[in-house]
Formats: sequence, C-alpha cells, structure tokens
Amino acid sequence: MVAQELLNPTPAGLFCAAGGFHIDPPRPVERALITHAHSDHARPGHGAVLATAETLDLMRLRYGDGFAQKTQAAAYGKTIRIGSVGVTFHPAGHVLGSAQIAVEGSGQRIVASGDYKDVADPTCAPFAPLHCEVFVSEATFGLPVFRHGNPMAEVAKLLHSTTLFPERAHIVGAYALGKAQRVIALLRQAGYDRPIYIHGAIEAFSRYYASRGVELGEIRLARDAAKTELAGAIAIAPPSALKGVWTRRFPDPVTAFASGFMRVRARARQRQIELPLVISDHADWTGLTATIAATGAAEVWVTHGEADALVHWCKANGRDARPLHLGYGEEDEQGEAAETAQA
Ligand SMILES: [Zn+2]
Ligand SMILES: [Zn+2]
Repeated sequence: MVAQELLNPTPAGLFCAAGGFHIDPPRPVERALITHAHSDHARPGHGAVLATAETLDLMRLRYGDGFAQKTQAAAYGKTIRIGSVGVTFHPAGHVLGSAQIAVEGSGQRIVASGDYKDVADPTCAPFAPLHCEVFVSEATFGLPVFRHGNPMAEVAKLLHSTTLFPERAHIVGAYALGKAQRVIALLRQAGYDRPIYIHGAIEAFSRYYASRGVELGEIRLARDAAKTELAGAIAIAPPSALKGVWTRRFPDPVTAFASGFMRVRARARQRQIELPLVISDHADWTGLTATIAATGAAEVWVTHGEADALVHWCKANGRDARPLHLGYGEEDEQGEAAETAQA
C-alpha cells in the first residue's frame, strides 16, 4: 500500500479508501473522522462520526442532538480497526478534545494533525509529535514572523492594564470555542480570582469545559451585570462582539484581542485593538518546523494557512511537500460569527 492509498486528498476531503472514511470532510459523507470541534473541521450531517467524546459533546452543543446519524467515541491512544486500516486518536493540544488522527496500514503511518500547538495549555491534553511517513499539517502561522512567545507574559500585560486603569472594564476578544476558555484558565493560573464576565456566545462551551474539570473559577454573564459592577472587571467576548452594541454596557472599555495574529501590529491597528495579546491555539513557525522535523516524515501535506511558505521550508529541508487546498481556515472567525448571531 502506498501512502496515497492509505489516505488521499480529494475534493470531498482526505479520504481513506481502505477504511471507507473521510477525515474532517467539508461536506456530509457516510463516515467521518473528526479531529476537533471547530466549525470548518466538524460539519453537521454526516452518517457516522468517530471523534473523541469531548469533540462529540462540543459538536452536540454547536449543532444539536441530530448532528450525525451515528456517533462513536474514540479514546486517546486506543487503536480502532476500520476495514484494513488501524486508526488512533492522539492529543493535538489545540482545544479540548482535539486530536491528531494516525492512519496505519501495511507498515505505513500517515498522521492528520488537524489544528495543533506544541505548548502547554491548561484546557487540553498536551500535544506530542508522532513518528510517521506522511505528516498532514496546518500552517495557520506558517511564516517566520510568527513567534507566539509566552502566553503568561501576555496575561500579565492584561492584569497590569487592569491595575493601571481600575475604573475601566477590559474586554478581551477571544474565539468562542477554545481560546475564550484558555484565556480564562490562564487568568486563573496567574492568580486572578475575581469573577470573569462572559458574552452569551461563550457560555455553553465554558460550562462544558468546567464540567470536564477545567478550572475556570466564577464566570458570570455580562448581560446580567450592572454597569458599576463592570468597572475594573475583565470580560471575554467573541471578536465580532467587540465593535457591537454589546460593549455599551461596559464603562470606558479597554479593547484587547487574544490571537497569534496580534504579533502583527498592523492587524491590531486595523481592528482598533488597544491591548493586543499574542495568545494562539496554533503552533507558531518554530512549533510547525520543529514538529515536522520530530515526526521524521519524508512527506508533508499542508492543509491550510500559509501553505506555500511551509511547503517551501519542507523542500529546502529535504522533504517532499505539497499544499492540499482543502478549504479549512478562518474556522474560528466563521464559527464565532454564527455563534454571536445565536446569542
Ligand atoms: Zn481549529
Ligand atoms: Zn483549522
């Protein structure tokens, strides 16, 4: 079996003919394996879905009970036989329940990593690179300019600003699934113990994270708070809410935004962000290239983001590589726009 028979990029997504399944297919298919619950990777309407229990629960929260005809939960590290291949889910360190999916057959292993990051995150199991022949990577931050640095230093910046401006509220833009809960958990790790106020679009995912043992402390809905209560408070909102009427309840708010793109000053200015926080749930340039090296993969397929730059780096470093153009990316933006509409 050559690599392309084990897993093959098609317009309907990565397809395994030997097992009859797609990974993160963009359109409904009979049998889907899902890496994580962001909306561009996890679509509703598949026949059968195999994913971690957390990803299934988060899909249920996002789409409702009927999001698939049949579901099966995959445990990290346990191989499941499908047709003539073995599939194993391993932590991807991206959001709660996120997984890299290893597909094995005829002594070959291909790893579809979905989205991943190789830094510690109090909200999910840690990523570890897997040895494989073919590694399927994202490249959201696949340019040398992207170095995320230490997220705790960014959280310290936010806390320092609250002491400089004790009368002002601080509103942090953060994607509704994953980033919002991580920012809250990092604030708790830094010792911040006041209530944290959230936008309605973040509530269900946050309650779910807390139910899975992620320490979020006291979270309150901002819409239930009096304006006086919000002076000096920290609030978390999906990025699309930062410019909306929702912010009017806050006294003279400082607008912050937690994203790897905040490394680029022009992006922060463009969005009129007063306090950019470089906190990302994706690997930065160092993380991407170190991970690819650690997999030992002779071949790399790049799904989304800055694919050309990462493909170029792979080739310059003695690996076969190509972009796949599977249509992922901007998942967080798309997902949170839809969620804000519901809130
Ligand atoms: Zn994602
Ligand atoms: Zn993605």
